[in-house]
Amino acid sequence: MMHYAIIADIHSNLAALQAVLKDMVNHGKMEEIWCLGDIVGYGPDPHECIALLRQHQHVSIAGNHDRAAIGKLDTSYFNADATAAAQWTAGHLTGEDRSYLENLPLTLQKENFTLAHGSPREPIWEYVLSLSIARDNFACFQTGYCLVGHSHVPQVFRYSEDGKLSSNALRPGVGLILGKDRLIINPGAVGQPRDSDPRASYAIYESEGKTVRLYRVEYDISLTQVKMTQQKLPPHLISRLSHGI
Ligand code: ZN
Repeated sequence: MMHYAIIADIHSNLAALQAVLKDMVNHGKMEEIWCLGDIVGYGPDPHECIALLRQHQHVSIAGNHDRAAIGKLDTSYFNADATAAAQWTAGHLTGEDRSYLENLPLTLQKENFTLAHGSPREPIWEYVLSLSIARDNFACFQTGYCLVGHSHVPQVFRYSEDGKLSSNALRPGVGLILGKDRLIINPGAVGQPRDSDPRASYAIYESEGKTVRLYRVEYDISLTQVKMTQQKLPPHLISRLSHGI
């Protein structure tokens, strides 16, 4: 059985990434990690998160925060907290980290999946949160399924053979069977969940059973928060981790 871990929005949260990497091992050997971007930004350990991810067999695409951290994105669209965190992040990357981030592609194709951080139409910026935006985006990729991050909300959009469009929250442990319906799947965020569940979120794709399953993992949130306080990162970014918002 081939397993692939689908992770997104690590956001420099090393404790959360470590917990997710440890949890994966309980579900079998991962052939590869598919990372949907925003490895850095917001959290206190940008270099450590890049270095740890690179120790594993993985592919990754670029997120808006990865671009911002290397000066490849106009942060005037960011709010004040995100801008402050992006500036702090830029000052805490090694040259090797920067070239790693610079070389991340905008989209990738793996098996029958297209990987895009925000959406296949606008990989860096667009949030797939509504049915109307999902509808437009189903026309923007060729594979059966698409994996996105960016919203930090575990969710699936389904475009069925008879043209019906629907969306559901992804719940931990419930297997999503991949069939003829086209799907846009968001595995939630490793490092900054926003669905009112503060646990780290990720998914595993099992290729033989054609199933995607969501997992939620407890991690030491206070460890990340203490580091953020020490680095004087914006207070709202610190407190929101406790609430998963
Ligand atoms: Zn993000």
